[in-house]
Amino acid sequence: MDDEQKLTQLKSLLNEVWDLRRVVRLLQWDQQVKMPIGGTHGRAHQLATLSQLEHVKFTSEEIGQLLEDLQPYAGQLDPDANDARLIRVTTRRYKKKTRVPADWVARKAEAASEGYRAWEEARATDNFSLFQPYLEKNVSLRQEYAEFFKPYEHVYDPLLDEFEPGIKTREVQQIFDELRPHQVALIQAIGERAQVGDSFLHQPFDEEKQRDFGAEVVTRFGYDWKRGRQDVSPHPFTESLGLGDVRITTRFMPDYLSSAMFSTFHESGHAIYEQGIDPDLDRTHLATGASLGLHESQSRLYENLVGRSYDFWIHFYPRLQEYFPMQLANVSLESFYSGINKVEPSLIRVEADEATYNLHIMLRLELEIALIEGQVLVKDLPGEWNDRMGEYLGLTPTNDALGVLQDVHWSEGYIGYFSTYALGNLISAQLWECIHTDIPDLPEQVRRGEFSRLTGWLTEKIHRHGAKFEPQELVTQATGSKIDPAPYLRYLESKYGQIYGL
Ligand code: ZN
Repeated sequence: MDDEQKLTQLKSLLNEVWDLRRVVRLLQWDQQVKMPIGGTHGRAHQLATLSQLEHVKFTSEEIGQLLEDLQPYAGQLDPDANDARLIRVTTRRYKKKTRVPADWVARKAEAASEGYRAWEEARATDNFSLFQPYLEKNVSLRQEYAEFFKPYEHVYDPLLDEFEPGIKTREVQQIFDELRPHQVALIQAIGERAQVGDSFLHQPFDEEKQRDFGAEVVTRFGYDWKRGRQDVSPHPFTESLGLGDVRITTRFMPDYLSSAMFSTFHESGHAIYEQGIDPDLDRTHLATGASLGLHESQSRLYENLVGRSYDFWIHFYPRLQEYFPMQLANVSLESFYSGINKVEPSLIRVEADEATYNLHIMLRLELEIALIEGQVLVKDLPGEWNDRMGEYLGLTPTNDALGVLQDVHWSEGYIGYFSTYALGNLISAQLWECIHTDIPDLPEQVRRGEFSRLTGWLTEKIHRHGAKFEPQELVTQATGSKIDPAPYLRYLESKYGQIYGL
């Protein structure tokens, strides 16, 4: 076989791996959206069988040999060409997957499912000690995982790399060290001002109208319904079943407007990212976002920088009032804008506003790193958690269900995940500043409800590249610098300075 034939052979094997993964995703989507409860047991087996097939296929010696043989060929290509990147990214992933022994994967899967069950019970009964041994197990498995990737600069690096390829613990710590004092000071300053009202958001809102308004907005954002659909699920999410089928979900709260509305904006950002990937990359490992942080930057850009901006509501508030005249006729645009941007330190991360959100993440990141380093023991976690909540947000959880037990991630062994949410916030603001330089009349466009140039910019700079570039590379290409917290701080200080008169 010559190099071209080997590349064709590699692609056809990778296409099959990809197809298996998409079928796994379809089963997961179905589990959360359509499946009756009785399907749980059978579905777990189906998912395990298909995931196993995918793993065996991807880590085969044949793929390993093809990747090795193709290294000189890749070296002759333009380093940014699709084929060169496919070989590079796949090689990196292959090396990672084959470094992890199968018995570790099996022990991890078991610990994750047991951990999840223990966490559910511990949270329901507010009893951390029920969860403690399972979390200890997950932490020690992750420490063991890091050892497969020696030498590393920091023991947390291999964990972070799962979600943000190429980013180092040191970089993330630097970013958060810069952010922390400013965010804490901002929250304190806001806390000293008069609170804004948002009671008008808590009224009965017809579910069908909520859905129609959300659909109207995301259609304008550029979400393509011929390659997507929206369903209802307990937790909103986006699932790509291929570039021609990128689905979003939401949940409707009959007495609270913000929930479905902003989650629809948010998920459409994830979906527009996937729909914007270059079709040449379809059915390969490049047909997805660059990282979870990059993905979150897109969802938060549409949800927050656009969807919670004053300019956006100049156009859409009269429309929303037409949908809900009874509820909103007497609420001014100014009151509505302040209300949807109300800042209130709270104990629960998923309910946090834009200004306090990153502090919830910093707390988790610091504790994760300390756990993996062995600086903090699992048994001391509730106390460490509560101390930081007091320091950063001025609140102390009255029980562990409202504190250390609130998130599912650690129970399933996801350690290294949380920082991606905060990185997404930072990247979104960094892109936003550049977009305004490149499209000076963007504010006027947003005030007219026009987003084609905005989405076009994002597609050109971010979406079409899929996973060709690592997150820091892609952010640098798009903005001229690596991930930088300064634009996000400028954004928060200007926005909340105006709303709260700081
Ligand atoms: Zn998201």
